Amino acid sequence: MPAGSESEGETTLAASPHRYDITVLGGGIMGSSAAYFLQQLLPGASICVVEPDPSYEFASTVRASGGVRVLFSCPENVEMSKYSREFIRRFPVDMAVGGREAPVDWVEGGYLFIVPPAGTKMLDASYEIQLLHGCEVDLLTPEQLKDRFPSMRVDDLSAGVHSPRDGWCDPNGLLQGFRRSAIARGVNYITDRVVDIGRTDHAVTHARLASGEYLRSDIFVNAAGAWAAQLCAMVEMPLPIAPLRRFEHYFTAATPIERLPYVKDLDRLAFRSEGIGFSGGLVNGGEPRGFNFDVDHDYFERAVWPALAHRFPAFEAAKCHRTWSGLYEQCELDGNPVIGNWKGSLDNFYVLSGFSGHGMMHAPAAGRAIAELIAHGSFQTIDLQRLGYARIERGEPYPEAGIL
Ligand SMILES: Cc1cc2nc3c(=O)[nH]c(=O)nc-3n(C[C@H](O)[C@H](O)[C@H](O)COP(=O)(O)OP(=O)(O)OC[C@H]3O[C@@H](n4cnc5c(N)ncnc54)[C@H](O)[C@@H]3O)c2cc1C
Repeated sequence: MPAGSESEGETTLAASPHRYDITVLGGGIMGSSAAYFLQQLLPGASICVVEPDPSYEFASTVRASGGVRVLFSCPENVEMSKYSREFIRRFPVDMAVGGREAPVDWVEGGYLFIVPPAGTKMLDASYEIQLLHGCEVDLLTPEQLKDRFPSMRVDDLSAGVHSPRDGWCDPNGLLQGFRRSAIARGVNYITDRVVDIGRTDHAVTHARLASGEYLRSDIFVNAAGAWAAQLCAMVEMPLPIAPLRRFEHYFTAATPIERLPYVKDLDRLAFRSEGIGFSGGLVNGGEPRGFNFDVDHDYFERAVWPALAHRFPAFEAAKCHRTWSGLYEQCELDGNPVIGNWKGSLDNFYVLSGFSGHGMMHAPAAGRAIAELIAHGSFQTIDLQRLGYARIERGEPYPEAGIL
């Protein structure tokens, strides 16, 4: 092992070459998936991932709730979910390294979106798109909802869509599996932080790291999640992606409730079964943007519990055991990610961020997509052109209408 290495495949820059064909900035789920697929499509390429914290303490990935669903309105998101869900299902075996499986604790618990009359049109339109894309989804009346989920209050609902093949998994398992597999295939993880990015008029030339070293590369992929806009600012590329704090809670009910799918409503209450209890939260879209990880221990009682108890009276006696915070990498333009390069300005600088609450589930498809774009010059399997940077430049939102 070279001097300065932490373990196989992980190095400090002192021990690594200073030039790579492709440099991925940020080694969370997006950066690691991108690196994995890039190495598959370009087996001869030298690829590195710059990640300052191999423990991923503040990374969004390891703070996520793990939901995977096809319930979207944009065809791109439905297709990304279909591919990713199947990929995650096969993940433990397909991503095994050295005969060791890559566990992700996949639970096919299903997803359920419920709406009041004001949301019926949106739900119906999304349901039609999901059907068109071959998803197994059931549009349910309030009575049918009550039959399937007897403890749910339905008198103020107009409909729901249940997708029984959806579910949830362990986000950290998924990240570690991608990372291990990428390293096993020759990707080099460098433990360092990007502090500056150098450019000419038309291309990015190098990244300067906190260690003081310079990293040169032909292609750069910005996969820094909630920090992506900071890196874009270094090359004067405007990126409307901001950190949005979101709490996740583990809670239990005093009286038993049937096993629930991942339930989401229009007020952005979202939770699922977890062991003998439940895991979930309620997104506050009005939360001031910023890198704030403080935990508001009253939030559950103030915001989440009333919404829970309203929908499932059994939660009137609920106990919150743990609350943690994490950051959505929120795309302020439209809630959809940016997957692409800055064409005509910095052609060799790609962004893979802004998944606004659904990045874990889309990481397999998004990593493959950016790898296709880099290797072939265009998307090969799912056409994600509408999620490129051009819409940001034009200021034209392409909104995801499905509940976020
Ligand atoms: C509470 C919560 C619940 C969620 N639930 C779900 C869910 O159910 N399903 C779902 O699909 N998604 C969910 N998400 C969203 C999901 O977690 C994110 O979309 C996804 O993890 C983003 O991955 P990422 O790799 O882009 O970001 P991250 O995991 O944050 O990785 C970015 C990496 O960039 C690194 N970095 C930062 N600055 C620099 C720098 N200067 N140089 C180099 N590297 C840098 C960071 O250290 C970090 O490791 C949830 C998020 C939260 C907060």
